[in-house]
Amino acid sequence: MQTEDNAVGAPVEAPVRPLRWLCQSCDWTGSDADLLRAPSPFDAAETIVGCPKCKAAEDIANACDEPGCDKEATCGFPAPGGYRRTCGRHFQWWDERA
Ligand SMILES: [Zn+2]
Ligand SMILES: [Zn+2]
Repeated sequence: MQTEDNAVGAPVEAPVRPLRWLCQSCDWTGSDADLLRAPSPFDAAETIVGCPKCKAAEDIANACDEPGCDKEATCGFPAPGGYRRTCGRHFQWWDERA
């Protein structure tokens, strides 16, 4: 681990766990690297993402970052070490006072 003290301003909310994705058109789940990406035909500055399994475009959702859980991530919260995205079941507010 390295500490960066060069005050750049806004704190970086790096994901504490690798991003995972799921396809809403089929049962595919995978990592950020597996996702298909292409420039949008409507706006070259935009990127559209697609499912590598069924090729559905724009049907990709964040998956819960809890290992083994393939639910859609509907919650996001700061956790020790970074930001997490989870489903409702794995949502856990880290309360320092507990
Ligand atoms: Zn798919
Ligand atoms: Zn979950």
